[in-house]
Amino acid sequence: MTLGRVLHIDLSKRRSWVEDRSELFSDRLGGVGVAIKLLEEELPKGADPLGPDNVIVFAVGPFTGLYPMASKTVALFKSPLTGNLGESHAGGRSAVAIRLAGYGAIVIKGASETPIYLAIHNGRVFFRDASGLWGVGSSLTVGRVIREKETGAGVRTIMRIGRAGERLVRYACVNTETYRHFGRLGLGAVFGSKKLKAVVISGKSSINVKDPASYRKVYDRIYEMATKTTLMRKYHDIGTSMNVQPLNAIRGLPTRNLKEASFEEAHRISGENLAENYLGRRVACSHCPVACIHLAALREPYEDEPYFYKTTMISYDYELIYALGSMLGVSDPEGMLRLMNEVEVLGMDAISTGVVLAWMTEAYERGVISDADTAGLKPRWGDWRVYLKAIRMIVEQPTEFYRDLAMGVAYAASKNGGEDYALAFGGNEMPGYHTGPAAHLGFLTGARHSHLDSAGYSLDQRLLKKGLKPSVEKVVDYLISEESWRQILSSLVVCYFARGIYRPEMVEEALKPVGYSLDVETLRKLGLEILRDKNRFKVREGFNPEKLKPPKRIYETPTPLGYVDEKLMEEAVKLFYERLAL
Ligand code: SF4
Repeated sequence: MTLGRVLHIDLSKRRSWVEDRSELFSDRLGGVGVAIKLLEEELPKGADPLGPDNVIVFAVGPFTGLYPMASKTVALFKSPLTGNLGESHAGGRSAVAIRLAGYGAIVIKGASETPIYLAIHNGRVFFRDASGLWGVGSSLTVGRVIREKETGAGVRTIMRIGRAGERLVRYACVNTETYRHFGRLGLGAVFGSKKLKAVVISGKSSINVKDPASYRKVYDRIYEMATKTTLMRKYHDIGTSMNVQPLNAIRGLPTRNLKEASFEEAHRISGENLAENYLGRRVACSHCPVACIHLAALREPYEDEPYFYKTTMISYDYELIYALGSMLGVSDPEGMLRLMNEVEVLGMDAISTGVVLAWMTEAYERGVISDADTAGLKPRWGDWRVYLKAIRMIVEQPTEFYRDLAMGVAYAASKNGGEDYALAFGGNEMPGYHTGPAAHLGFLTGARHSHLDSAGYSLDQRLLKKGLKPSVEKVVDYLISEESWRQILSSLVVCYFARGIYRPEMVEEALKPVGYSLDVETLRKLGLEILRDKNRFKVREGFNPEKLKPPKRIYETPTPLGYVDEKLMEEAVKLFYERLAL
């Protein structure tokens, strides 16, 4: 089976077909490089993100199923949250399942009139009735039902939405298997608008390599680096949640809607405390020896029955701790875990949910919104029980105010007031780093407005350690170069946690046995071109870099590198787009 096969599915007509797009995969590797071209081709300009014209592209890459930690699927679509490019990556079994089903990409368009789910097994596409699954309270239950009904156990992926996707919450996610997500920018709402409850994919085809002997050698080197060096150790041991205490120590941990940047009770929600007192197991995406996915075992007693407990496994990492912990002033680990479980069950992006709730709390505190808006809820920092109810209300939307919250923090604030402290960048809610100007520039200019686009937060921390203050030009060049290289990783499609292993020279080496001869310089140029493609698509869909402004709050709370300078930010954003030369 070749990577060049693209499966097209039209939900309106209930039709599917395969096209050979090998030329696209030769030019653009796979993943995001291919997906952005397919999206450009298939999505009519100006399409309604929640209309049948929106298109979902899933793509994998030439390393999928061959090298360790090449475990992600890229999903591109038009985002109902920002109105332009939606991009989300998820692991689990999704990528390997798509490739072993015989495809490099899957394009889903149209919309069904009644709830359905897709089952794709051994080259055949089935449109199954999902009326019985629509409205089911928990995305976990949906997974369980589909597991019973479908074949492919052990090799299949089950991507599904929860109630949030059905109710078109603009930051609803798609859960894959149980503990991985296409989290950001609202893929779940796009599924919901198409009445698409789930996609199950399985297959057992094999993948050929051009040069098996050198493939084996490169494979072994990558595997050894992953398992016998310290490069991946932190992800395996405590996981990304080990960032909580160091960020808190340098005063870069957004707290209570970024009114502060350190949390007096950070130790209670730290990775160390969760590992010591709650860690139940660790799991891994397919073809990954690291197993960074940490699951807390939350043991809750039944009210009426002594010595009888319900144990829930809840996945956690740094971003969730930031969004549903420090950002809300929640320090009770069990309360925070319950919030995490609720967003998992309902199928929502945890970062966006936390930021929305933090804004709601401050707006309530300042009297911008009242009890009538909140349907009687009285949000208060640290009160996780109220937040638990508020999350459910965002999904069920009993008042206009909750309908506003379901549209994202930028929209809610533009309608109700309190824009200065609504933490959105380019329409996307802020991730957990208040480390300095590079982090905020990265959120503003990154194609997804995410910390993963160009990792400015890591530049800030390096500068802090060295006591350096580089020029605006240097910071902008760094962000563009980092984001460009990440387009190559997202085209292959490699887990970003393994970026220390998949350095440019290693990528060049690993591409040869699978049939690509591309040197480092060519790869870098290709990365920049893909980044431009993505930004051109955004502009095509109405994105205007000149209107990009961070929320005022980032200038009010000092970072570890001091106060962020407003003029410097404006200059840097302008320079970024000049250098990108769209
Ligand atoms: S390091 Fe973690 S997220 Fe990355 S592939 Fe492995 S298990 Fe998945």
